[in-house]
Amino acid sequence: MKKLYIASDIIEARILDSILKSQGLSSVVRNETLQGGIGELPFVEIWPEVWIENSCDWEEAEELLEGFVQVSTDKDWICSSCKEINPGVFQTCWFCNANI
Ligand SMILES: [Zn+2]
Repeated sequence: MKKLYIASDIIEARILDSILKSQGLSSVVRNETLQGGIGELPFVEIWPEVWIENSCDWEEAEELLEGFVQVSTDKDWICSSCKEINPGVFQTCWFCNANI
């Protein structure tokens, strides 16, 4: 297990996770359930993290992450069918596959 990325929120973590999984990589989201919960943890400790389980997947995951970070500044859009937030670069919803 190796930590690939610390996301700023759970939506970002899930989107990255779904991108990695769609490429057949062994990604795992950690700290997913801690957000908004346990008060005594320092805030920085509860950022959701995306980990890569299989070290064979690491290089490919890093390349995907690079592309992901570059496009994540594009304007987000909200899917009209499932209300999930999508990065601007996505042509279809990452969650339900609906078109914009
Ligand atoms: Zn959707």
